[in-house]
Amino acid sequence: MTVESILAKLSRVRREGNGWKALCPAHPDKNPSLSVRQADGKVLIHCHAGCSTEAILTVLRIEARDLFEEGPEWRIVAEYDYRDEKGNLLFQVVRFDPKDFRQRRPDGNGGWTWNLNGVRRVLYRLPEVLAVKSVLICEGEKDTHSKLPNRSPAKLTQSRCWNSLARKT
Ligand SMILES: [Zn+2]
Repeated sequence: MTVESILAKLSRVRREGNGWKALCPAHPDKNPSLSVRQADGKVLIHCHAGCSTEAILTVLRIEARDLFEEGPEWRIVAEYDYRDEKGNLLFQVVRFDPKDFRQRRPDGNGGWTWNLNGVRRVLYRLPEVLAVKSVLICEGEKDTHSKLPNRSPAKLTQSRCWNSLARKT
């Protein structure tokens, strides 16, 4: 992520010294107390009122790795919904390019929380799995979409989180 795209998420941004000042998004800020500057290909942020970097990143919905200006741009190429029996969204597995997978759950405010703490793990496409008699197990979500025709008897995957859960128990 570039420093410009991070500054674009902030308000009352102004140049100061070799960096910027802006309102801190993590506390009710009236006088810009967030410092932003670049150093060694990284964007440094600091709230003078004492908010942690992690708290600021959470509000801005960016990851610690986004503070690095160099390296690959992460791009979401697929979102796989995991739903309960009634079709309610429980969580998503997100596929990035370059290839990487992350899991996230709805935060209840139209955004996402990037962990599955306390979330019930279910089989991929559970409502469909429950509706059929036989099930074909694939290695990943993508295979259930790309390698099986839509009218296939069943589609199911064991996702990474399912596997790791199974390993833990
Ligand atoms: Zn703050």
